[in-house]
Amino acid sequence: QHLRAEMPAHLLQEEMSSSYTTTTTITAPPSKILQNGGGKLEKALLHLEEDIRPEMKDDIYDPTYKDKEGPRPKTVYVWRNIILMSLLHLGALYGITLVPTCKLYTWLWGVFYYFMSALGITAGAHRLWSHRTYKARLPLRVFLVIANTMAFQNDIFEWARDHRVHHKFSETDADPHNSRRGFFFSHVGWLLVRKHPAVKEKGGLLDLSDLKAEKMLMFQRKYYKPAILLMCFILPTLVPWYFWGETFKHSLFVATFLRYTIVLNATWLVNSAAHLYGYRPYDKNIGPRENILVSLGAAGEGFHNYHHSFPYDYATSEYRWHINFTTFFIDCMAALGLAYDRKKVSKAAILARVKRTGDGSYKSG
Ligand SMILES: [Zn+2]
Ligand SMILES: [Zn+2]
Repeated sequence: QHLRAEMPAHLLQEEMSSSYTTTTTITAPPSKILQNGGGKLEKALLHLEEDIRPEMKDDIYDPTYKDKEGPRPKTVYVWRNIILMSLLHLGALYGITLVPTCKLYTWLWGVFYYFMSALGITAGAHRLWSHRTYKARLPLRVFLVIANTMAFQNDIFEWARDHRVHHKFSETDADPHNSRRGFFFSHVGWLLVRKHPAVKEKGGLLDLSDLKAEKMLMFQRKYYKPAILLMCFILPTLVPWYFWGETFKHSLFVATFLRYTIVLNATWLVNSAAHLYGYRPYDKNIGPRENILVSLGAAGEGFHNYHHSFPYDYATSEYRWHINFTTFFIDCMAALGLAYDRKKVSKAAILARVKRTGDGSYKSG
């Protein structure tokens, strides 16, 4: 499956669309190629990689943006968040000591809640709403909003806004969790201090009209505080206590504090570890890396060099079900007719990118 360098763009286009028919394969609209006047292959490939969702552009990396010169603005600590986050983590540590004396059902309930909230982030806030990598019908969207509320990581609108600006201005001051500021800052520190002015400036210029137009997202945003109290704290604590007679202490510290803390840290590892440790087979010029361990914890979100290279791929990975529970879930939803129009980058476009910008660690599988 090697790409012939002399192949004219329109032939390449044909070959790519005919060889991948299972899901929407990402190719440029033919008109785009024709506009190039049959231009250079390189140019056509750039378009193939970047022109697949005409309605979404604001999660594409902008390498022209550079940090402003001059002294860094003073760090302003948000003490309320620092105290709450510390208490939560202390509660989770105490929860660990209670795990051995938990009822089996409480443990299973915690695991179930972990997977539901993870999907609310990965399949919902991330792949559906931040990147629009597939489309979902109403029942699935209702489920994802509820699951996302269980995860309590800011409402979907805010999450998607922070995430689009993270992709577009990656590793600069306009990136909310800029990994150049170190592991701790990109992991959790960014939630404990006021945002850098560049994040506000650039985030405010993003096109978020698609999110604002979705009534369900605005509904979640409006009732977010009572909703997270119920879905992230009250419900997961009351269920084990009421239904199988778990002690209130075990319910609160294991099913709620420990479970919530694990989901948070698994998600944060995508911003910290997957931006610092791993190979960069698709693009050596950007920070994000391929990290299997992060993928394990974050339901398939650790193939991060791939994901930042091709943010429009619904699998956030070159592969589908390889350490990727979220892709498996979306495919199940598609089999039920609840998800459709899943965008997948073609093998040819991936190989061309590997050849052009990879770090040489790519293993063809
Ligand atoms: Zn990232
Ligand atoms: Zn992303």
